[in-house]
Amino acid sequence: MGNIKEVLISEDKIQNRILELAQAIEKDYDGEILMIGILKGSTIFMSDLVRKINKNVYMEFIQVSSYEGTESTGTVNIKKDVEIELVGKDVLIVEDIIDTGNTMGYLIENLKQRGAKSVEIVTLLSKPARRLKEIECKYIGFEIEDKFVVGFGMDYNQNYRNLPYIGIYDNSEENI
Ligand code: 5GP
Repeated sequence: MGNIKEVLISEDKIQNRILELAQAIEKDYDGEILMIGILKGSTIFMSDLVRKINKNVYMEFIQVSSYEGTESTGTVNIKKDVEIELVGKDVLIVEDIIDTGNTMGYLIENLKQRGAKSVEIVTLLSKPARRLKEIECKYIGFEIEDKFVVGFGMDYNQNYRNLPYIGIYDNSEENI
């Protein structure tokens, strides 16, 4: 597909890593697991992850906004909220990528304020070089360099989410 400079992480590598994450999560949690996926980027990762866990997973979703194109706007707003009571719950947030940490920092605080007993994070990707806010992330798929990536749920202006691999987006030309 145009504007993908290179494949950064292949489909096989992603699936192998997701299996490892699923096994670690399954081992760490007793009984049902409450996962909150962050829309829309986490959906592909979450759907593969939950199907590799041999325990009941309760799936919730939350939507926040902080990005326009390839730039973080810095302010985070909840656009669609979860539909459950959070008091006393052990929550596992599912994210596609942690970049500056602004989104995750805001969400952790928000879910805790609403009474969640614990909040842990599983993210497919992390860009540590870009971090502005320190985030304790229990499960990380891959740490990557400071490159704008698309595919496997991640978009550029709502495109490329359905790529089965993670690619580096080349924004030198603006056509898809
Ligand atoms: P943060 O708040 O950590 O800066 O940004 C988190 C969100 O920004 C992610 O959920 C994702 O939607 C978006 N994001 C950050 N880096 C990238 C990237 O390289 N590619 C894409 N497609 N989205 C990104």
